Amino acid sequence: MATDQTLAHVSAEVRTFLKGPHEIFIDGVFQPTPGTDRLEVFDPATGQVIASVPACGEAEIDQAVRAARAALTGEWSRLRPADRERLILKLADCLEAQGETFAQLESLNNGKNIGLSRAIEVGASVDYLRYMAGWATKIEGHTLQSSIQAPPAGSRYMTYTLREPVGVVGAIIPWNFPLSMLVWKVASALAAGCTIVVKPSEETPLTALLFGRLCQDAGLPSGVVNIVTGRGDVAGAALARNTGVDKLAFTGSTEVGKLIGHAAIDGMKRFTLELGGKSPMLLFPDMGSNQDQLVARLGLFFNQGQVCTAATRVLIDRRIHDEMVERLGKVADSLTFGSGLDPESELNPVVSAKQRDRVSGFIQRAAQAGAHLASGQRTVPEHGFFVAPTLLSHVTPDMEVVRDEVFGPVIVAMPFDDEEEAVALANDTSFGLAASVWTSNLDRAMRVTKALRAGTVWVNTHNVLDANLPFGGMKQSGLGREHGREGLEHYLETKTVMIRYQ
Ligand code: NAD
Repeated sequence: MATDQTLAHVSAEVRTFLKGPHEIFIDGVFQPTPGTDRLEVFDPATGQVIASVPACGEAEIDQAVRAARAALTGEWSRLRPADRERLILKLADCLEAQGETFAQLESLNNGKNIGLSRAIEVGASVDYLRYMAGWATKIEGHTLQSSIQAPPAGSRYMTYTLREPVGVVGAIIPWNFPLSMLVWKVASALAAGCTIVVKPSEETPLTALLFGRLCQDAGLPSGVVNIVTGRGDVAGAALARNTGVDKLAFTGSTEVGKLIGHAAIDGMKRFTLELGGKSPMLLFPDMGSNQDQLVARLGLFFNQGQVCTAATRVLIDRRIHDEMVERLGKVADSLTFGSGLDPESELNPVVSAKQRDRVSGFIQRAAQAGAHLASGQRTVPEHGFFVAPTLLSHVTPDMEVVRDEVFGPVIVAMPFDDEEEAVALANDTSFGLAASVWTSNLDRAMRVTKALRAGTVWVNTHNVLDANLPFGGMKQSGLGREHGREGLEHYLETKTVMIRYQ
């Protein structure tokens, strides 16, 4: 279990939490699971085990789904929208009040920088809850005109639509932004009046379990939010096929997303898929000088590249290509390694030993295939799951590292000769999650933005999300959107009502 070295930089609250026991959260209580196998949870900065959580299966998932279904027709369904809003706001207040505990726990478990945990995992999640809370009172259908002529003669009709909660949501969460991804789904589900069962990633289940306590603190009715830990192919798959689930909300890899989609269709469940990416960043010569720090830190190596929207393909106008590769390589080589709990550190470990080995494999195979390492030949810290930030040039469009999602600090740089070629290279991918265009020419920005096939296109920035702006992918990057009104729609069903009168 956790060593002094691991715990040296966390608060007394986090240390107390880590002592456990860590149990699943069903029907408003933490429930022991005697006899169930347990999954070890690691600190990626040291490789030490810090906790263990139950490796649940079909039985616990089914119990959680039953609790969520009972809650759907219980006290929760009788609350006024304004009461739902108040409860979501309370959740936000509780998260804000305990923000430092959540941030430290996330950095400890995921490895990410504490500044990022504070700003995004906690800060943006609090904002997201507050944003979605407002929607609870603003869900509306339409009144519609009907021209139908049906007996008896003289009948007239009043017709309208109701928007109703889709029902029980099954949410499956990845490890790269564990708390944020959970909050996106929980906040939307609660605003719509749904109940939810969450299956966090086996790598990063701790903030999800702590979120269970938040639900108790906020006074959420029992069974509205349930959290069950376990392996993806066991607990996740059980949730995906459970007949008591009405909608699946999945964020993760495209490969698993397809399995979720098939399971959803088998049960005719509604579903949204937020999947992988291979996002291009287009750098034009008129982008303005001294942007290399911003480009590298915000787009390329943010969260160690473990971001679905990471700019993993930097496409650079040939006139500035060599200079830009050199400058970006220098930034990459200057980033200081360290535990995410050290606020001064700039490059933190990736989430697991498995992920480190997977990412390193991509780099080795790319080098064997002829790619040049413009950065990344540094020695990484001996302990923990570190990978040197790596910029690869002299790559060809058919290389694995250009086509597949690496999900680590590995970037390829490719030159282009003109705008047309830049757009063609950018769109030459099976993914379509995000892209960014860096230019000071407004006409170019408008043209290229329209030509790119991606769910989000940024101009002169990258990786910036807002609760109000629809977020999701085209092509193999997913189905549906989260955030904003469009995100909420996926948690609602439409019911048409027709009333005959004379
Ligand atoms: P993953 O697909 O391996 O796992 C995601 C979740 O699915 C985990 O909870 C896992 O336990 C579960 N799972 C695994 N196999 C399953 C199965 N057979 N049935 C049901 N559930 C299963 O993804 P990951 O490695 O945790 O996360 C990284 C991936 O997530 C990357 O591809 C990244 O691009 C993607 N991602 C996308 C977005 C987005 O919004 N588009 C955001 C964050 C991450």
